[in-house]
Amino acid sequence: MIPKTHFQLQNSWNEMLVLSFYSWLRWRDNSMSQNTLKIGKFSLGMGDRFAQEAEAQLQACIMAAERGAEVVPVWNKSNREHTIIGSEPTSVRASAEAAIKKLGWKNEWHIDADHIGLKTVDRFMAASDFFTIDVADSIGKAAKLEDVKAFVDKHSELIGRVEIPGIEGGAQTTRADVERVANKFLAAVHEAGAIYRYIEKAKGAGKFIPEISMDETDLPQAPIDLLIILAAIADEGVPIQTIAPKFTGRFNKGVDYVGDISQFEKEFNDDLCVIKFAIQKYGLPDNLKLSVHSGSDKFSIYGAIRRAVKKHGAGLHLKTAGTTWLEEIIGLAEAGGEGLVLAKDIYSDALDHIDELCAPYATVIDIDRAKLPTSAVVSHWTSEQYVNALQHEQSCKEFNPHLRQLLHVGFKIAAKKGERYLGLIRANHAVVSKKVTGNLFDRHIKQIFLS
Ligand SMILES: [Zn+2]
Repeated sequence: MIPKTHFQLQNSWNEMLVLSFYSWLRWRDNSMSQNTLKIGKFSLGMGDRFAQEAEAQLQACIMAAERGAEVVPVWNKSNREHTIIGSEPTSVRASAEAAIKKLGWKNEWHIDADHIGLKTVDRFMAASDFFTIDVADSIGKAAKLEDVKAFVDKHSELIGRVEIPGIEGGAQTTRADVERVANKFLAAVHEAGAIYRYIEKAKGAGKFIPEISMDETDLPQAPIDLLIILAAIADEGVPIQTIAPKFTGRFNKGVDYVGDISQFEKEFNDDLCVIKFAIQKYGLPDNLKLSVHSGSDKFSIYGAIRRAVKKHGAGLHLKTAGTTWLEEIIGLAEAGGEGLVLAKDIYSDALDHIDELCAPYATVIDIDRAKLPTSAVVSHWTSEQYVNALQHEQSCKEFNPHLRQLLHVGFKIAAKKGERYLGLIRANHAVVSKKVTGNLFDRHIKQIFLS
């Protein structure tokens, strides 16, 4: 090889300087907030299973805005829902866009690819700008021994007494505790990293909002577990903006919280302290916030959530989905005539297919089959009886949370009815959309974001 002259060396040195300057610029662009898509402080996840209610849902956010609360609408639909219904993610964006245009919404909004993984994310790529990376299935998969050791060695600050501002007495851990949590969650966090990088490659860094969800698993994560998980997520380089842990108690679909409310309140407050601490300690995005999954209809803890968020000046993402589809059924039942007949048919078919409908939702429903009325009984119900049994008014004696949960997971039956279902929803648009808006605004937004 010919030795380089001084001039050539100087040139390649300059080239290197220029190159590293550009890579620094690129790095800075990616990490600077003005170029990163960031979710606002308060957001509401909304599910529109049959792509009929985006306008009615957006109306609830407009009402919030009129009362001074900015609640960012996020339309979410999981791969599971798309598969059950036979719909495509592009339909979620299309109906949201139509509603945005029609109602003249000028504020922020997003489309969430809900509960996706490496195998399912592809068809969501173009239509979504929010990705809920689901790693629940990898939780508990043993991590590599050397990974656990490297993590614990790196994070000696997590061992012993951990001072977390806002948590009285901080947290107390041993090396074995951190090893146990790392062993349980590291594989899941690595998986989240792989999914994140796959999406980043397709969409570009900073062009989407990443969330990690761990809610659909067996055991809740304590605040100290959350801190260890956040440290691992930061190590993995995933700039999450929302995280959905599994909280203590039961978050069953479409019905109220079941559990110790004061314990939930303490844990929720501690989680907010942990998040604030982790943002500073591990350099996670400064708008990182909790995401409450299966968040609809949890009336007994909304007060605790509202107080905690206010106290800590924290943000919140509340994810709801099937509560909207239940309002469609309630609207049909209330409309009477063919609507009521269809609502009864759907219940009867759901009862016949109960095992198949419940299986994908096993960790998030609790149905006591002995408390479900038979199809014969329901076939004689009036509109009022049907609505009373299904509508989420706990003070109503006829309210039946078991029937409500079964219908919540029973949307596949409505999908199978095809045009008969969609036609009746459209024919009864006035009554249905009023129910959808009222449910989201009065029972949800007002309780959490407005009081
Ligand atoms: Zn979820």
